[in-house]
Order: sequence, then C-alpha cells, then structure tokens
Amino acid sequence: MLVLHGTGVSSGIAIGKAYVLHRERPEVPEYALPANLIEEEVERFTSAIDSARNQLGRIRDHIPKSAPPEISSIIDTHLLILHDKMICEAPADTIRKSGCNAEWALKIQSDELAAVFEQMDDAYLRSKKTDVGQVVDRILRNLLMSTDEEHEQITDALDGQIVVANDLTPADIVLLKHTRIAAFVTNLGGPISHTAILARSLEIPAIVAVHNATRGIRNGEELIVDGKLGVLIVAPEHAIIAEYQRRQKDIIQLKRELTAIKVSRSETRDGHAITLCANIELPDDVKAATKVAAQGIGLYRTEFLYMNRPDLPDEEEQYRAYAKVVKAISGKPVTIRTLDLGNDKRVDGGNRGNDMVTVNPALGLRAVRLCLHDTSLFRPQLRAILRASALGQVRIMIPMLSSLGEMFRVLDLIEETKVELTRQGQPFNPALQVGGMIEVPAAAVSADLFAPHLDFFSIGTNDLIQYTLAIDRVDEAVNYLYDPLHPSVLRLISTTIRAGKAAGIPVAMCGEMAGDTRYTRLLLGLGLDEFSMHPSALLEIKRIVRDSNLAELGQFAQSVLNSRDTTELHALVDRMNEH
Ligand code: PEP
Ligand code: MG
Repeated sequence: MLVLHGTGVSSGIAIGKAYVLHRERPEVPEYALPANLIEEEVERFTSAIDSARNQLGRIRDHIPKSAPPEISSIIDTHLLILHDKMICEAPADTIRKSGCNAEWALKIQSDELAAVFEQMDDAYLRSKKTDVGQVVDRILRNLLMSTDEEHEQITDALDGQIVVANDLTPADIVLLKHTRIAAFVTNLGGPISHTAILARSLEIPAIVAVHNATRGIRNGEELIVDGKLGVLIVAPEHAIIAEYQRRQKDIIQLKRELTAIKVSRSETRDGHAITLCANIELPDDVKAATKVAAQGIGLYRTEFLYMNRPDLPDEEEQYRAYAKVVKAISGKPVTIRTLDLGNDKRVDGGNRGNDMVTVNPALGLRAVRLCLHDTSLFRPQLRAILRASALGQVRIMIPMLSSLGEMFRVLDLIEETKVELTRQGQPFNPALQVGGMIEVPAAAVSADLFAPHLDFFSIGTNDLIQYTLAIDRVDEAVNYLYDPLHPSVLRLISTTIRAGKAAGIPVAMCGEMAGDTRYTRLLLGLGLDEFSMHPSALLEIKRIVRDSNLAELGQFAQSVLNSRDTTELHALVDRMNEH
C-alpha cells in the first residue's frame, strides 16, 4: 500500500481501478533544412495549425448540451490561442530566419511564451500558460503525425475507472465527459486548472499535483481517491477499502439529506429564522446560488469586474453586470459591495491601487479608502448600483470602514448621486439600504457608533482576523496563527452583533467563517442573523441550522466567551457541535 498526496480540488471519495493515460509531451526533434525546402516546411507548419483548428472545431461541435459552460469557453480560448500571431505566425518567421524544422521553431516560441507567463504576478493569468502548452502539444502531435484517435477510442472502456494522467486537456475533457469516470488524478495542475474546474462542475472527485502519479501507478491497480483531503491510496488493504466504503456511504447519505432540505425553511428547531445567502464574484455565479436556493446574495465582490483587463469598466458595463445579477436572482436581495481593490486584489485597470500601495498594502489605500481618495473611480459605481436598484432588491455595502468620517462621506456621496440621478430622470430605489462591512477591529470595537447610521452590518472575518491577530492572510508562513476561535476575534464578533441588535439592524457575516460548519452553532449562539458564503457550503450550513436549538446555543456561546483558557474554549465548541 502506498499513500500519495496532492491538492484535492473536487471533494468526494472514489474507489476503483486505475486507467493510466500515458501521453507525455512529444519529443521535439531539431534539424537544419536546406534553403530550397524552407517554404515547404512553412507550409507543413501552416497545415498542422489548420488541422489543429479543425480538430478543436469538431470537438467544440460535439460538446454535449448538458456540459458545463466552462468547457466550451476553454475550447474557445484554445481556438483563440491558435489564431494568435505568436503561435500561428512567429514560428513560421523563425523557420524562414534560422532554417530550422517546424517542430523546433514551435518549441522555441513556446518556451519564450512560457517564460513570459511564468513572470506574471496574477495566478489566473499564470495558469493560462497551461492552455498555451496544450495548444502547442496539439500542433506538435499534428506535425509528428500522431493523432488523438487511439485515445478517442479507448474512452468507452473507462466506466467506473480512475483516470490517472499527466494533465488533461479540454479536448480530453469533452471526450471523457461521455463516460462515467469515478475520479481524476493528475501529475500537474492547481485549484483553478481545467481538471479542477471540470471535476467540480461534474461533481467527480479529483486530485491534482500528485507528482509522478503516472509513473508510480500501474494500469488496473486498485486506488482510493479522497478528493477533499487530496489523498491517493495505491493498492489499499482490505480494511482500508472497507473504511473508505463506509465514508463513501456517509457522503452519499449526506448528499441525499442536503438535496432533501433544499426547499425546507432555514430555521432552528425552536423556530428562529436564519437567512442563508451566497457570496458571488461574477454574475454567472448566481446560477450556483439559485441551485442551492440561497435567499439572496450576501456579498457580491464587484472588484472582479476590474481584473484581468487593461481598462476600467465604465458605468454602463457595471450597470449591465449588476442588472444581470438582480434579474437572475428574481426578487431576492442582492448586496453589492463597493470596490474592494488594492492589497491582494490587484488590477490592471488603470493601475489604480497598485502603485500607490507598495510597502504595506493591507494597511494601505484599499477598498473604501481608495474610492474616497479617487471619487472618479467611485461615482460611476455608485450610479450603476443605484440604477440597478430600480430593478430589484439591491443593497449597497461599504468595505473596510474604519472611521465614522469615511462612513459619512460615503453616505453623502450616495445622496449626491441620488440627486444627480433624479435630475437626469434616471429611476432608482430611494430607500436603498446601505450597510457596512465590519472587518477592521476599530469598526468592531466602535460598532455602536456606526450602527445608528447604517441599515445592516456584515462581518468580514477574513480581514477582521487578519487585522486583529496581525497575520497577513496571504502569507503562508503565518497561516498557522489564523484562528477564528481566538478570544479577541470572538469578542469583536460578539460586540458587533450586540451593537447591531441594540440599534435594531440585522447583522450578517460574509467571511469564510460563515461557511465553515465548525463555527455555525457558535455563531448562532452569539446571535448572528444572516450567513453568507460560497454556494457549495450553503446546504450543509442549513442542515446545522435546522438541527440547532438557539436558546441552548446562546448559553453555550456565553460560556465560550467567558472561557479563560484555549483548551476549555475548544472543548466547549466541540461540545456545541456534538449536540
Ligand atoms: C472578508 O474580509 O471577510 C470578506 C468577506 O471580504 P474579502 O475576503 O473579499 O476581503
Ligand atoms: Mg474583506
């Protein structure tokens, strides 16, 4: 028995036989050509490109209607790459200039592009290196006259098997989609690789970045995949298989229970209604939110509209995005957070917030500070949000508030925008609710001062924990100190909830803590009214809410707050969770 570790990117347990796809990058030959054969070589290269375009076109035409939209968009990206001059023209120039063969010219170009991608700061853009590599491999295979046919025929035999590959291309994905694969394991890839995206949308367990998986595993070998923990067990013993079969059954049972409560009310056993909302980053994410019957959008991170592009979205583009969300959620509340740029959320658009904050970006000109510093960035967004408020239940939420002055300034700007829109005859909801994120300790400590002026609070624990404990949330070296149960964090959460209640405004939480089942009962006990989280966590949280007694939890939560030592505190939280 052998246990390998990788990155679990799609949860679930699979037990089955390995199907190892041996398809490493083709060997690239290098040779020089006599001058009279150069144009012929360029033609050979061009026809390999044409074949690749035709192959991808055919694959795109065969995408099943039920396939997730990500698949066709990935294939479209590959087609775009094939049309890019860097891929379809630059190698031809190299063949002409240096007289080398087409494969080598393509390799030179692809190495150069890979180096450029490697330097990129943005993880998303860096991941595009894989797409370029996959397109290059396809052209190479065409040049070397090897096709995908062999692989295309094998896929019928994959039912119930665990596919082990170096990496999977979107084309593989379309082909594999027709079969019932039990799980994927790849040598390469990360959480946002194609394998990960596909596996999650098809709900197939998957582990990526298991180094040398294709070398260490033989065809037909028994495997266990734990897609949540990223654990791969090769040739497991009987007792281990039995244990994982039991876990598999539990997961299936849990899934059934979760599906069953989708339409049930979100209320505790003693009848307290708790609002469960979804966090989204792009308008398309609403689909995932409605799939789990979210009661609204508790956090729409609008800054994603500003990323991966050279320009800034104007008021019209923002309005269209917000309108899409408001319409898609049909009448339920949408909490649009104003721009939270700066710090780890960098943008290309106008380079705002990047250059100005260099030394200590988490404490710098980010979020509402940046918006107030540069109102030409802020005003179009306020206009767009207000205009979208005419279409449904829109709420506006201000991130990173740390002083009352900032809050009043934003409230003034909103009022000014309303006057402007009225003058222009543009419709909006005059009673639009304005809430504040409580994510800076200063705001939590003085939440009672903010509460009378706002319509709701939403606690952003990701930042609140970072600032309270002085731990950079993106620094792996201090990750171990990141503790939502730190007494200081719990006190700030409790202070915020009490201040909200005293002022008669609802208090929500939209940081990761809200979607973590370990803390649900404690937060209920502290009096939280609304939880907003990644849609994938919502039904599990709902199950806990429906299984809780608020009166009991309130007493437990008080003991947790009064607890004088960490071990006792953790034991109390464990006991709450056992209840
Ligand atoms: C938070 O800080 O908890 C939060 C929800 O906002 P973000 O993660 O976008 O900073
Ligand atoms: Mg935050």
